[in-house]
Amino acid sequence: MTFQKSLWFDPTMLFIGGEWRKPGNTDTIAVENPSTGEVIARIGRGTPADIDAAVAAAEAALEGDWGRTPAVERGRILMRMQQLVLQRAEELAFLESTDVGKPMKQARNDSVALARYLEFYAGAADKVHGTTIPYQEGFTVYTLREPHGVTAHIIPWNYPMQILGRSVSAALAMGNACVLKPAEDASLSSLAFAAIAAEAGLPAGALNVVTGLGSEVGQALAEHPGVHHLSFTGSVATGRRIQEAAARNVVPVTLELGGKSPHIVFDDVDLDAALPTLVGACMQAAGQTCSAASRVLVQRGIYDEVRRRMAEVYSTLEVGPAPDNRDLGPLVSKRQKQIVSSYIELGRQDLTVAAQGTIRGDAPAGGNYVAPTLFADVPPDHRLAQEEIFGPVQVLIPFGDEAEAIRIANGTEYGLVAGVWTRDGARQMRLARKLNVGQVFINNYGAGGGIELPFGGTGKSGHGREKGFEALYGFSRVKTVTASHG
Ligand code: NAP
Ligand code: MG
Repeated sequence: MTFQKSLWFDPTMLFIGGEWRKPGNTDTIAVENPSTGEVIARIGRGTPADIDAAVAAAEAALEGDWGRTPAVERGRILMRMQQLVLQRAEELAFLESTDVGKPMKQARNDSVALARYLEFYAGAADKVHGTTIPYQEGFTVYTLREPHGVTAHIIPWNYPMQILGRSVSAALAMGNACVLKPAEDASLSSLAFAAIAAEAGLPAGALNVVTGLGSEVGQALAEHPGVHHLSFTGSVATGRRIQEAAARNVVPVTLELGGKSPHIVFDDVDLDAALPTLVGACMQAAGQTCSAASRVLVQRGIYDEVRRRMAEVYSTLEVGPAPDNRDLGPLVSKRQKQIVSSYIELGRQDLTVAAQGTIRGDAPAGGNYVAPTLFADVPPDHRLAQEEIFGPVQVLIPFGDEAEAIRIANGTEYGLVAGVWTRDGARQMRLARKLNVGQVFINNYGAGGGIELPFGGTGKSGHGREKGFEALYGFSRVKTVTASHG
């Protein structure tokens, strides 16, 4: 059976107003399997007119059944979606693994995470309350939490199921109607999710999925005057365009734009416990993780030991096709392979390669494989220590004392996540306060993990918070009602 025949929906169709519709453009976009380079399916190339239709369908849903659905019922619908995701977890994982090149064991985590987002926000849907506010004699004042209305969700290709899960489930829980634009390199799981939503009885128009090019449908969605809130995850360059579009329409925007996140390893670390995470927190999804721990800052007293032991771990890392479940799969696209490879070449010009993993000999020649690479003694201002590479590349940076560690850690344009590795409790608390990031992990590191944990960045990593309860505040607005009753 071909991959295409294994799909239980037609990937060339768009999901608008509860129906599968042909896009306005008869062109389609090829879906490549990153493990082999083969074209395995085609998706529809939506048009700005399809975005108009999707936004109109979302508006109609808010005026119709979806807008009248009480919070508790929204939660029940999300819970039915969760059940269907769990029933189809293996199929969804296979879809994602084939589409983006993730080893199956990692793609299975993504199915489970999608289900977990639905579960979390299903339970939370009827637990976001307004407040009453003491005011002048003869008045009663209370606040209402209301949905924004039509929310746009533009997501990238690295964790499609997780990112649509965190964004769309929270928006639906609060009663918004969503238009989802997945990345052209990874649209299949979003279409599968639409099929699941329909099966679960989500009212028509509450979720619409339009596939196509970012420059066409992505831009049209971001600029659409009918959209009341934009949620974007991806690159800084595109994020800037999204915020410009949001500014023109004066609508709120949540941006999650990646990072250059550090592990900060002090010489009192429990290195045996830390070591797998020091490497693993960058290698999952082959380094294509916004919160990848791509910088490893190490105190000089243990620098040589950390370098040697990380190199040992690297020497065991294997890269291979997604179905083979090696440590790393291929990168998502030829373009991404080219970007990451050129960073590795740049590093080779003046840096020391401390270790590399191995691409398996039987990996298909057409796949986008890159060997994980560890650079040693990297100056903090080097391009490889400053720029997001979005691949399996880590840089080791030595530091002397705590003040220098903080200076280096905060010394990039980004600020998403940091890992602090020390047994000194007071130092843990000091660093947690001084690091300019949205999440601090102490003696652990959860790249991509923690549905319950508010997540988002500072600086060029973006602004706004998704995940956890915070997302529900972001996907709603407060109305204050002041009643005079004498
Ligand atoms: P990107 O351009 O930011 O794409 C992210 C999403 O935005 C995709 O759905 C994309 O659609 C869409 N898009 C592109 N241009 C748009 C526009 N003008 N208006 C509205 N939407 C638009 O990212 P990329 O090109 O796939 O990756 C480039 C780099 O971004 C990576 O190397 C990495 O550094 C970074 N990145 C970060 C994250 C993260 O989690 N923070 C995730 C992915 C990538 P199309 O895919 O159809 O163009
Ligand atoms: Mg693909």
